[in-house]
Amino acid sequence: MYKLGSEIVKRAYNFNAGPSALPEIVLQQAQEELLNFRDTGMSVMELSHRSKEFETIHNEAQSLLKELLNIPENYEILFLQGGASLQFTMVPMNFLNGNEIGNYVLTGVWSEKALKEAKILGRATTVAASTKEENYSRIPNLSELIVSPEDAYLHITSNNTIYGTQWKDFPETKDSMLIADMSSDILSKPLPIERFAMIYAGAQKNLGPSGVTVVIVRKDLLEKVSSSSIPTVLRYDTHAINNSLYNTPPTFSIYMLNKVLHWVKDLGGVKEIATANEIKASLLYDVIDQSNGFYRGHAEKDSRSLMNVTFQLPTNELDKKFLAEAKEAGFIGLNGHRSVGGCRASLYNAVPYEACKALQQFMIMFKEENQTN
Ligand SMILES: *Cc1c(COP(=O)(O)O)cnc(C)c1O
Repeated sequence: MYKLGSEIVKRAYNFNAGPSALPEIVLQQAQEELLNFRDTGMSVMELSHRSKEFETIHNEAQSLLKELLNIPENYEILFLQGGASLQFTMVPMNFLNGNEIGNYVLTGVWSEKALKEAKILGRATTVAASTKEENYSRIPNLSELIVSPEDAYLHITSNNTIYGTQWKDFPETKDSMLIADMSSDILSKPLPIERFAMIYAGAQKNLGPSGVTVVIVRKDLLEKVSSSSIPTVLRYDTHAINNSLYNTPPTFSIYMLNKVLHWVKDLGGVKEIATANEIKASLLYDVIDQSNGFYRGHAEKDSRSLMNVTFQLPTNELDKKFLAEAKEAGFIGLNGHRSVGGCRASLYNAVPYEACKALQQFMIMFKEENQTN
Protein backbone atom coordinates (compact mmCIF):
# COMPACT_ATOMS: atom_id res chain seq x y z
CA MET A 1 0.00 0.00 0.00
CA TYR A 2 1.16 3.54 -0.66
CA LYS A 3 -0.26 7.02 -0.52
CA LEU A 4 -1.21 8.91 -3.66
CA GLY A 5 -2.30 12.37 -2.52
CA SER A 6 -4.98 11.65 0.04
CA GLU A 7 -5.74 8.23 -1.45
CA ILE A 8 -4.36 4.94 -0.18
CA VAL A 9 -3.43 2.71 -3.11
CA LYS A 10 -3.64 -0.99 -2.39
CA ARG A 11 -1.01 -3.09 -4.16
CA ALA A 12 -1.64 -6.79 -4.82
CA TYR A 13 0.61 -9.65 -3.75
CA ASN A 14 1.79 -10.15 -7.33
CA PHE A 15 3.34 -13.54 -8.13
CA ASN A 16 2.80 -13.32 -11.89
CA ALA A 17 5.27 -15.23 -14.08
CA GLY A 18 5.71 -12.37 -16.54
CA PRO A 19 5.03 -9.56 -17.02
CA SER A 20 5.56 -9.42 -13.30
CA ALA A 21 5.85 -7.11 -10.33
CA LEU A 22 7.82 -3.86 -10.66
CA PRO A 23 9.36 -2.02 -7.71
CA GLU A 24 6.71 0.28 -6.26
CA ILE A 25 9.17 3.16 -5.98
CA VAL A 26 9.97 2.89 -9.69
CA LEU A 27 6.29 3.14 -10.57
CA GLN A 28 5.89 6.14 -8.29
CA GLN A 29 8.84 7.92 -9.88
CA ALA A 30 7.48 7.23 -13.36
CA GLN A 31 4.13 8.61 -12.24
CA GLU A 32 5.71 11.78 -10.89
CA GLU A 33 7.62 12.35 -14.13
CA LEU A 34 4.88 11.32 -16.51
CA LEU A 35 3.59 14.72 -17.64
CA ASN A 36 6.81 16.65 -17.44
CA PHE A 37 10.05 14.74 -17.63
CA ARG A 38 12.92 16.84 -16.24
CA ASP A 39 11.46 20.18 -17.36
CA THR A 40 11.05 19.11 -20.97
CA GLY A 41 7.31 19.81 -20.78
CA MET A 42 6.59 16.33 -22.06
CA SER A 43 6.60 12.71 -21.03
CA VAL A 44 9.51 10.41 -21.85
CA MET A 45 7.27 8.73 -24.45
CA GLU A 46 7.01 12.02 -26.34
CA LEU A 47 10.75 12.77 -26.47
CA SER A 48 12.73 12.24 -29.65
CA HIS A 49 14.81 9.09 -29.42
CA ARG A 50 17.66 11.21 -30.78
CA SER A 51 17.30 13.88 -28.09
CA LYS A 52 19.99 14.57 -25.47
CA GLU A 53 17.52 13.66 -22.72
CA PHE A 54 16.75 10.24 -24.15
CA GLU A 55 20.39 9.59 -25.04
CA THR A 56 21.26 10.11 -21.38
CA ILE A 57 18.64 7.59 -20.22
CA HIS A 58 19.76 5.06 -22.84
CA ASN A 59 23.49 5.31 -22.19
CA GLU A 60 23.01 5.36 -18.44
CA ALA A 61 20.96 2.15 -18.62
CA GLN A 62 23.85 0.51 -20.49
CA SER A 63 26.47 1.69 -18.04
CA LEU A 64 24.38 0.69 -15.01
CA LEU A 65 23.93 -2.81 -16.40
CA LYS A 66 27.68 -2.97 -17.08
CA GLU A 67 28.43 -1.91 -13.55
CA LEU A 68 25.87 -4.15 -11.84
CA LEU A 69 26.80 -7.31 -13.74
CA ASN A 70 30.50 -6.49 -14.00
CA ILE A 71 30.44 -6.74 -17.78
CA PRO A 72 33.92 -6.47 -19.36
CA GLU A 73 34.78 -3.92 -22.06
CA ASN A 74 34.76 -6.50 -24.84
CA TYR A 75 30.98 -6.90 -24.66
CA GLU A 76 28.27 -4.82 -26.34
CA ILE A 77 24.97 -4.14 -24.62
CA LEU A 78 22.05 -3.92 -27.03
CA PHE A 79 18.42 -2.95 -26.45
CA LEU A 80 16.29 -4.76 -29.02
CA GLN A 81 12.62 -5.54 -29.62
CA GLY A 82 10.76 -8.75 -30.44
CA GLY A 83 11.22 -10.31 -26.99
CA ALA A 84 13.40 -13.27 -26.13
CA SER A 85 11.41 -15.10 -28.80
CA LEU A 86 13.04 -13.11 -31.60
CA GLN A 87 16.44 -14.03 -30.16
CA PHE A 88 15.55 -17.68 -30.76
CA THR A 89 15.69 -16.73 -34.47
CA MET A 90 18.47 -14.13 -34.46
CA VAL A 91 21.01 -16.34 -32.68
CA PRO A 92 21.15 -19.10 -35.33
CA MET A 93 20.58 -16.61 -38.15
CA ASN A 94 23.64 -14.57 -37.14
CA PHE A 95 25.97 -17.18 -35.70
CA LEU A 96 25.48 -20.37 -37.74
CA ASN A 97 27.17 -20.10 -41.11
CA GLY A 98 27.43 -22.94 -43.63
CA ASN A 99 27.53 -26.27 -41.83
CA GLU A 100 28.23 -24.86 -38.36
CA ILE A 101 26.31 -26.62 -35.61
CA GLY A 102 24.24 -25.01 -32.87
CA ASN A 103 24.13 -27.25 -29.80
CA TYR A 104 21.07 -26.93 -27.52
CA VAL A 105 20.41 -28.14 -23.99
CA LEU A 106 16.69 -28.85 -23.62
CA THR A 107 15.44 -28.00 -20.14
CA GLY A 108 11.93 -26.85 -20.96
CA VAL A 109 9.51 -25.36 -23.43
CA TRP A 110 11.57 -22.20 -23.97
CA SER A 111 14.68 -24.20 -24.95
CA GLU A 112 12.55 -26.31 -27.28
CA LYS A 113 11.31 -23.14 -28.92
CA ALA A 114 14.86 -21.83 -29.34
CA LEU A 115 15.90 -25.06 -31.07
CA LYS A 116 12.78 -25.05 -33.25
CA GLU A 117 13.65 -21.65 -34.74
CA ALA A 118 17.17 -22.79 -35.67
CA LYS A 119 15.61 -25.75 -37.45
CA ILE A 120 13.06 -23.59 -39.27
CA LEU A 121 16.01 -21.61 -40.64
CA GLY A 122 17.48 -24.88 -41.90
CA ARG A 123 20.59 -24.55 -39.74
CA ALA A 124 22.49 -27.58 -38.45
CA THR A 125 21.64 -28.35 -34.81
CA THR A 126 22.22 -30.99 -32.19
CA VAL A 127 20.97 -31.64 -28.66
CA ALA A 128 23.57 -31.73 -25.87
CA ALA A 129 21.11 -33.17 -23.34
CA SER A 130 17.40 -33.18 -22.58
CA THR A 131 15.40 -33.83 -19.42
CA LYS A 132 12.08 -33.91 -21.25
CA GLU A 133 11.52 -37.57 -20.27
CA GLU A 134 11.47 -36.42 -16.64
CA ASN A 135 8.98 -33.66 -17.41
CA TYR A 136 11.85 -31.19 -17.14
CA SER A 137 12.06 -31.59 -13.39
CA ARG A 138 15.83 -31.08 -13.32
CA ILE A 139 18.84 -29.47 -14.97
CA PRO A 140 21.23 -32.05 -16.47
CA ASN A 141 24.56 -32.58 -14.72
CA LEU A 142 27.42 -30.94 -16.54
CA SER A 143 28.87 -34.44 -17.11
CA GLU A 144 25.73 -35.47 -19.04
CA LEU A 145 26.20 -32.82 -21.73
CA ILE A 146 27.42 -34.00 -25.12
CA VAL A 147 29.50 -31.13 -26.42
CA SER A 148 32.12 -30.86 -29.12
CA PRO A 149 34.85 -28.30 -29.79
CA GLU A 150 33.26 -28.06 -33.24
CA ASP A 151 29.99 -26.59 -31.88
CA ALA A 152 29.47 -23.01 -33.02
CA TYR A 153 27.76 -22.43 -29.66
CA LEU A 154 26.07 -24.18 -26.76
CA HIS A 155 22.65 -22.75 -25.96
CA ILE A 156 21.06 -23.00 -22.50
CA THR A 157 18.03 -21.56 -20.70
CA SER A 158 19.46 -20.44 -17.37
CA ASN A 159 16.11 -20.45 -15.55
CA ASN A 160 13.13 -22.50 -16.64
CA THR A 161 10.21 -20.27 -15.82
CA ILE A 162 7.54 -22.92 -16.39
CA TYR A 163 9.12 -25.86 -14.52
CA GLY A 164 10.92 -23.92 -11.78
CA THR A 165 14.44 -25.19 -12.43
CA GLN A 166 17.64 -23.14 -12.61
CA TRP A 167 21.26 -23.78 -13.56
CA LYS A 168 23.53 -23.45 -10.50
CA ASP A 169 26.77 -23.79 -12.41
CA PHE A 170 27.46 -23.16 -16.07
CA PRO A 171 29.15 -25.49 -18.57
CA GLU A 172 32.63 -24.73 -19.86
CA THR A 173 32.79 -24.44 -23.63
CA LYS A 174 35.71 -24.07 -26.02
CA ASP A 175 36.37 -20.35 -26.58
CA SER A 176 33.51 -19.58 -24.18
CA MET A 177 30.82 -20.04 -26.80
CA LEU A 178 28.01 -20.36 -24.30
CA ILE A 179 24.76 -18.55 -25.18
CA ALA A 180 22.06 -18.22 -22.55
CA ASP A 181 18.43 -17.20 -22.49
CA MET A 182 18.33 -15.51 -19.08
CA SER A 183 14.89 -13.94 -19.44
CA SER A 184 13.69 -15.08 -16.05
CA ASP A 185 16.79 -14.80 -13.88
CA ILE A 186 19.05 -12.07 -15.24
CA LEU A 187 20.14 -9.63 -12.52
CA SER A 188 19.01 -12.05 -9.78
CA LYS A 189 22.61 -12.94 -8.81
CA PRO A 190 26.21 -12.21 -9.85
CA LEU A 191 27.28 -13.89 -13.12
CA PRO A 192 30.60 -15.10 -14.60
CA ILE A 193 30.06 -13.04 -17.76
CA GLU A 194 33.39 -14.14 -19.34
CA ARG A 195 32.01 -17.67 -19.69
CA PHE A 196 29.33 -16.42 -22.08
CA ALA A 197 29.46 -15.42 -25.73
CA MET A 198 26.02 -13.94 -25.41
CA ILE A 199 23.23 -13.48 -22.88
CA TYR A 200 19.74 -12.33 -23.79
CA ALA A 201 16.65 -11.55 -21.76
CA GLY A 202 13.20 -10.15 -22.35
CA ALA A 203 12.82 -7.41 -19.75
CA GLN A 204 9.42 -8.27 -18.33
CA LYS A 205 10.52 -10.60 -15.52
CA ASN A 206 13.45 -9.00 -13.71
CA LEU A 207 14.37 -5.87 -15.65
CA GLY A 208 11.30 -3.77 -16.31
CA PRO A 209 8.18 -3.78 -18.47
CA SER A 210 7.88 -5.78 -21.69
CA GLY A 211 8.99 -4.20 -24.94
CA VAL A 212 12.76 -4.24 -24.61
CA THR A 213 15.10 -7.22 -24.86
CA VAL A 214 18.57 -6.89 -23.38
CA VAL A 215 21.40 -8.53 -25.32
CA ILE A 216 24.93 -8.76 -23.92
CA VAL A 217 27.18 -9.99 -26.71
CA ARG A 218 30.94 -10.41 -26.96
CA LYS A 219 32.32 -8.14 -29.65
CA ASP A 220 34.24 -10.82 -31.55
CA LEU A 221 30.93 -12.55 -32.34
CA LEU A 222 29.75 -9.55 -34.29
CA GLU A 223 32.53 -10.16 -36.80
CA LYS A 224 31.13 -13.64 -37.41
CA VAL A 225 27.86 -12.30 -38.76
CA SER A 226 27.78 -13.25 -42.42
CA SER A 227 27.51 -10.23 -44.66
CA SER A 228 25.16 -11.27 -47.40
CA SER A 229 22.00 -13.02 -46.39
CA ILE A 230 20.68 -11.45 -43.19
CA PRO A 231 18.08 -8.65 -43.25
CA THR A 232 19.49 -5.43 -41.82
CA VAL A 233 17.24 -5.15 -38.76
CA LEU A 234 17.90 -8.78 -37.76
CA ARG A 235 21.70 -8.39 -37.66
CA TYR A 236 23.42 -7.83 -34.32
CA ASP A 237 26.14 -5.72 -35.94
CA THR A 238 23.53 -3.26 -37.26
CA HIS A 239 22.37 -2.58 -33.72
CA ALA A 240 25.89 -2.51 -32.29
CA ILE A 241 27.14 0.03 -34.85
CA ASN A 242 24.11 2.24 -34.20
CA ASN A 243 24.12 1.97 -30.39
CA SER A 244 20.68 0.29 -30.59
CA LEU A 245 19.29 3.37 -32.33
CA TYR A 246 19.14 1.99 -35.87
CA ASN A 247 15.38 2.27 -35.67
CA THR A 248 13.17 3.80 -32.98
CA PRO A 249 13.85 1.87 -29.78
CA PRO A 250 11.15 1.14 -27.15
CA THR A 251 11.93 4.38 -25.33
CA PHE A 252 9.51 4.05 -22.43
CA SER A 253 10.64 0.48 -21.69
CA ILE A 254 14.28 1.57 -21.70
CA TYR A 255 13.40 4.45 -19.36
CA MET A 256 11.76 1.98 -16.97
CA LEU A 257 14.74 -0.38 -17.29
CA ASN A 258 16.99 2.53 -16.31
CA LYS A 259 14.90 3.12 -13.20
CA VAL A 260 14.87 -0.56 -12.22
CA LEU A 261 18.68 -0.66 -12.58
CA HIS A 262 18.99 2.41 -10.33
CA TRP A 263 16.75 0.64 -7.82
CA VAL A 264 19.01 -2.44 -7.81
CA LYS A 265 22.07 -0.25 -7.38
CA ASP A 266 20.46 1.64 -4.51
CA LEU A 267 19.71 -1.68 -2.80
CA GLY A 268 23.42 -2.46 -2.90
CA GLY A 269 23.73 -4.37 -6.18
CA VAL A 270 23.20 -7.93 -7.39
CA LYS A 271 24.92 -9.57 -4.41
CA GLU A 272 22.40 -8.00 -2.08
CA ILE A 273 19.58 -8.94 -4.46
CA ALA A 274 20.87 -12.54 -4.56
CA THR A 275 20.81 -12.79 -0.78
CA ALA A 276 17.28 -11.40 -0.67
CA ASN A 277 16.20 -13.86 -3.37
CA GLU A 278 17.62 -16.81 -1.43
CA ILE A 279 15.75 -15.75 1.68
CA LYS A 280 12.49 -15.23 -0.22
CA ALA A 281 12.66 -18.61 -1.97
CA SER A 282 13.58 -20.50 1.18
CA LEU A 283 10.42 -19.20 2.88
CA LEU A 284 8.38 -21.25 0.42
CA TYR A 285 10.73 -24.21 -0.08
CA ASP A 286 10.86 -24.68 3.69
CA VAL A 287 7.08 -24.97 3.83
CA ILE A 288 7.15 -27.48 0.98
CA ASP A 289 9.90 -29.56 2.62
CA GLN A 290 8.26 -29.52 6.03
CA SER A 291 4.78 -30.36 4.80
CA ASN A 292 5.11 -34.18 4.92
CA GLY A 293 4.31 -34.34 1.22
CA PHE A 294 1.23 -32.10 1.37
CA TYR A 295 3.05 -29.70 -0.94
CA ARG A 296 5.18 -31.48 -3.54
CA GLY A 297 7.78 -29.48 -5.45
CA HIS A 298 7.99 -30.14 -9.19
CA ALA A 299 11.74 -29.52 -9.39
CA GLU A 300 14.37 -31.83 -7.93
CA LYS A 301 15.99 -30.16 -4.94
CA ASP A 302 19.39 -29.42 -6.47
CA SER A 303 17.77 -27.90 -9.56
CA ARG A 304 15.32 -25.65 -7.73
CA SER A 305 14.80 -22.16 -9.08
CA LEU A 306 14.96 -19.15 -6.78
CA MET A 307 12.71 -17.31 -9.22
CA ASN A 308 9.81 -19.70 -9.87
CA VAL A 309 8.65 -22.05 -7.12
CA THR A 310 6.50 -24.83 -8.64
CA PHE A 311 4.45 -27.20 -6.50
CA GLN A 312 1.37 -29.37 -6.36
CA LEU A 313 -1.05 -30.42 -3.65
CA PRO A 314 -2.20 -34.02 -3.04
CA THR A 315 -5.14 -33.84 -5.48
CA ASN A 316 -6.32 -31.69 -8.38
CA GLU A 317 -9.27 -30.64 -6.23
CA LEU A 318 -6.96 -29.33 -3.54
CA ASP A 319 -4.87 -27.51 -6.18
CA LYS A 320 -8.06 -25.77 -7.31
CA LYS A 321 -9.20 -25.02 -3.78
CA PHE A 322 -5.77 -23.64 -2.87
CA LEU A 323 -5.70 -21.40 -5.94
CA ALA A 324 -9.25 -20.16 -5.35
CA GLU A 325 -8.68 -19.36 -1.68
CA ALA A 326 -5.29 -17.78 -2.39
CA LYS A 327 -6.90 -15.52 -4.96
CA GLU A 328 -9.60 -14.63 -2.47
CA ALA A 329 -6.87 -13.72 0.02
CA GLY A 330 -5.22 -11.36 -2.47
CA PHE A 331 -2.44 -13.54 -3.94
CA ILE A 332 -2.30 -13.06 -7.71
CA GLY A 333 -0.70 -15.22 -10.40
CA LEU A 334 -0.24 -18.52 -8.56
CA ASN A 335 -1.65 -20.80 -11.25
CA GLY A 336 0.93 -23.20 -12.64
CA HIS A 337 1.64 -23.15 -16.36
CA ARG A 338 -0.80 -25.38 -18.27
CA SER A 339 2.00 -27.81 -19.23
CA VAL A 340 2.88 -28.55 -15.58
CA GLY A 341 -0.36 -27.80 -13.71
CA GLY A 342 -0.45 -27.17 -9.98
CA CYS A 343 0.86 -23.89 -8.61
CA ARG A 344 3.74 -21.55 -9.30
CA ALA A 345 4.92 -18.57 -7.29
CA SER A 346 7.25 -16.29 -9.23
CA LEU A 347 9.55 -14.44 -6.85
CA TYR A 348 11.38 -12.05 -9.15
CA ASN A 349 13.61 -9.29 -7.81
CA ALA A 350 10.76 -6.81 -7.34
CA VAL A 351 8.51 -9.18 -5.38
CA PRO A 352 8.89 -7.94 -1.80
CA TYR A 353 9.85 -10.13 1.15
CA GLU A 354 6.52 -9.25 2.81
CA ALA A 355 4.56 -10.80 -0.08
CA CYS A 356 6.59 -14.03 0.20
CA LYS A 357 6.17 -14.08 3.97
CA ALA A 358 2.40 -13.61 3.60
CA LEU A 359 2.25 -16.46 1.08
CA GLN A 360 4.29 -18.66 3.41
CA GLN A 361 1.79 -18.01 6.19
CA PHE A 362 -1.10 -18.70 3.84
CA MET A 363 0.43 -22.03 2.76
CA ILE A 364 0.97 -23.13 6.36
CA MET A 365 -2.59 -22.21 7.27
CA PHE A 366 -4.08 -23.90 4.21
CA LYS A 367 -2.20 -27.10 4.98
CA GLU A 368 -3.41 -27.13 8.58
CA GLU A 369 -6.99 -26.67 7.48
CA ASN A 370 -6.91 -29.21 4.64
CA GLN A 371 -4.56 -32.04 5.48
CA THR A 372 -6.34 -35.30 6.20
CA ASN A 373 -3.90 -36.98 8.60
C1 LIG B 1 9.23 -15.35 -20.73
C2 LIG B 1 10.33 -16.13 -21.37
C3 LIG B 1 10.56 -16.10 -22.76
C4 LIG B 1 9.66 -15.37 -23.73
O1 LIG B 1 9.96 -14.06 -23.76
P1 LIG B 1 9.23 -13.05 -24.76
O2 LIG B 1 9.87 -11.77 -24.41
O3 LIG B 1 7.76 -13.12 -24.48
O4 LIG B 1 9.54 -13.50 -26.15
C5 LIG B 1 11.65 -16.78 -23.24
N1 LIG B 1 12.46 -17.48 -22.43
C6 LIG B 1 12.26 -17.54 -21.09
C7 LIG B 1 13.19 -18.32 -20.24
C8 LIG B 1 11.18 -16.86 -20.52
O5 LIG B 1 10.98 -16.93 -19.19
